[in-house]
Amino acid sequence: MTETTAPPATDPAAVFAELYGHKPHGVWAAPGRVNLIGEYTDFNDGFVLPLALPHTARAAVSPRTDGVLRVYSHDVPGGVVSLHAGELTPRSGHGWAAYPAGVWWALREAGHPVTGADIALTSTVPTGAGLSSSAALEVVTALALSDLYDLRLSAAELAVTGRRAENAFVGVPCGIMDQMASACCTEGHALHLDTRDLTLRQVPFDLAAHGLTLLVVDTRVQHALGDGAYARRRSACEEGARLLGIPMLRDLPHDGLDAALAALADAGADASVIRCVRHVVGDNRRVEQIIALLEAGDVRAAGPVLNEGHRSLRDDLRVSCPELDLVVAAANEAGALGARMTGGGFGGSALVLVEEETADAVARAVTKAFAGAGHTAPGIFAAVPSPGARRLR
Ligand code: ADP
Ligand code: MG
Repeated sequence: MTETTAPPATDPAAVFAELYGHKPHGVWAAPGRVNLIGEYTDFNDGFVLPLALPHTARAAVSPRTDGVLRVYSHDVPGGVVSLHAGELTPRSGHGWAAYPAGVWWALREAGHPVTGADIALTSTVPTGAGLSSSAALEVVTALALSDLYDLRLSAAELAVTGRRAENAFVGVPCGIMDQMASACCTEGHALHLDTRDLTLRQVPFDLAAHGLTLLVVDTRVQHALGDGAYARRRSACEEGARLLGIPMLRDLPHDGLDAALAALADAGADASVIRCVRHVVGDNRRVEQIIALLEAGDVRAAGPVLNEGHRSLRDDLRVSCPELDLVVAAANEAGALGARMTGGGFGGSALVLVEEETADAVARAVTKAFAGAGHTAPGIFAAVPSPGARRLR
């Protein structure tokens, strides 16, 4: 059977009490996410359409007044990491603890008087599967500290804080989508986010009401090939915009694409630049197409658009890999409505839109195809559009 709920979470309050010897002031949760469509668009000021997963990072937290942060994750070995405010230097290591420490640093940099905290974390978001376990960690930390120190940060401000922590403190050049999804998604909806100005709209996405299931297939691989690929795609996009004389690829409307591609070829642009431009403009358009279909209640018709998105990522952006292509091919062959890789690629996860009653058969077909190809069995679960970050108690 395909799992439709997140695995049971370890109670962070119990972990907290055992570690620190007293009860936490509160418990907060922030979800991982999958992106339905709109890939490699966020650093082009474009559109994305993520939904929150039922899988969450949870934090039990109490404030401190002595300038010390103590963090513990139930999910990684190594015990409690203790840091003093004076040791908060960007890109200075600290392993996984750099994510929550980076949030503390970003809040202090923004002038918020956060004098420390004791934190115990537990998470059901798979790590490194392209499902944003890192953003979940950042957003849950930001929300807990905002509540405990009465900072009254909006959901978007929590996301911006998390992104700043990841970009500037941890040193990962991610866009804003992951943190916005974790902070701002709502149950039963996908989040239409304009990454240029962070305006957002909740788009109804009640799969169960339509008799549909959205499977997430975690390939459990992450190819080293992906190292540096993000930066190269990013500079190809910037080069395309520069040659076209526009601030960002977002500023190229879809009906101007053919003329723009011809102009780039005339200007002697590298083939990779031309392909990246075609992907980004195409995926921005696919976000709009899928939103129109969801709002019209024609959710099934999104399937072929997902397939088209996959082809674009595979052939134009060239960020797919054999395992992701196999998920898409095997799922479609087994009767899925559509499928595509999601996230940065070179491994990670794929999405499969499928009729509810065929979800298990499609999941089995994908698992069988993986076994046949000699790959590790994939992790498969249903992505039920879930709430964003919140206080639990
Ligand atoms: P993704 O966000 O797609 O899961 P990333 O590479 O961006 O992948 O983030 C994964 C990293 O986030 C992990 O290597 C770890 O440092 C940190 N992380 C995520 N979840 C946890 C957790 N539960 N406990 C400790 N660290 C975590
Ligand atoms: Mg991440």
